[in-house]
Amino acid sequence: MEKVRLGRTNLIVTKLGWGGIPIQRVGEQEAISVIRTVIEMGVDLLDTARAYTNSEHRIGLALQKVNKPVILSSKSLNRKETIYKDVHESLEQMKVKKVHLYHLHGISSFEEYEKVMAPRGAYEGLKRARDEGLIDHIGITSHNLRVLERAIGEGHFEVIMACYSFLEPEAALKIFPLAREKEVGVLTMKPFSGGVIEEAGPALRFVLSTASIVPIPGSETLEKALENWKIFIEGHSLTEKDGEKIEALKKEFNHQFCRRCDYCQPCTEKINIQFAVGLKSIIKRFGPPAQEELGWMKDLIEKARNCSQCGECLPRCPYHLPIPDMIKENLAWFDSLSNQ
Ligand code: SF4
Ligand code: SF4
Repeated sequence: MEKVRLGRTNLIVTKLGWGGIPIQRVGEQEAISVIRTVIEMGVDLLDTARAYTNSEHRIGLALQKVNKPVILSSKSLNRKETIYKDVHESLEQMKVKKVHLYHLHGISSFEEYEKVMAPRGAYEGLKRARDEGLIDHIGITSHNLRVLERAIGEGHFEVIMACYSFLEPEAALKIFPLAREKEVGVLTMKPFSGGVIEEAGPALRFVLSTASIVPIPGSETLEKALENWKIFIEGHSLTEKDGEKIEALKKEFNHQFCRRCDYCQPCTEKINIQFAVGLKSIIKRFGPPAQEELGWMKDLIEKARNCSQCGECLPRCPYHLPIPDMIKENLAWFDSLSNQ
């Protein structure tokens, strides 16, 4: 089973990690069973966050029922030194004495970076937690490669987390070589580009065939967890067919998809932009919002209809997405579904 050393943390982990976002969406027993299964199969790094509602708690429940060592990774959106309290909350939720990796979560700009690194900022809170042995290593996660480049260059972090998929391959050019040089461990998120890529095989083989990084795809069902694991252990070199599929999908999306980074917010009409822009892939993943438990989607769709096309969000999207046009097109597509 392929293992990766996470930079100077010297932690050696299975090359396939696991991300704790999707288990928020299923019932508690199913979530626990998924987590136990991935650990039993051989995954030994679980990533979660304070912001992922019940994810840490569910990991804590699952850990009571497995007897294998696991590296835990969590993070907090708190930008102040009071992040120290969040570390305690993570420990309590996961019922453990230590979280091995703890990250500053989603640092989206230099301004935010400077805030967390300033006196009484979140970095100081994590240093205190590390000095007290509550965490082992401090990390940073971001969708912004320039922030990660700076964070690695300044040498304060032992691990980073970046977006990486065949639709978003830029980190391989800028970030991974620098991280290797500075001995910083690399976890990668969004191997399916936030649900835009539907076929797991080419997407996972693409990220797994990249040296010295640990992708952390999440899975909310046993079926999905087993599928990911099978792709990993069956040898994950990219096939010729994968190459063709990847090229076709790259052409289809032509960089026009939402990375769910939220830089475009706030919207003047309080629209959840990443939802409205990503509506098609969300509906493909969850199914239409007919079921009662998906009623939340209906509200977000109705809200999206208020887009005034003001364009204020446009300069804030680093991927230059034509947000108002995409919202309009997605709503027309959605309405056409109910007319079928
Ligand atoms: S163009 Fe639409 S989505 Fe963008 S800020 Fe204006 S109302 Fe919000
Ligand atoms: S529309 Fe652009 S800025 Fe907004 S979440 Fe999507 S990718 Fe990010």
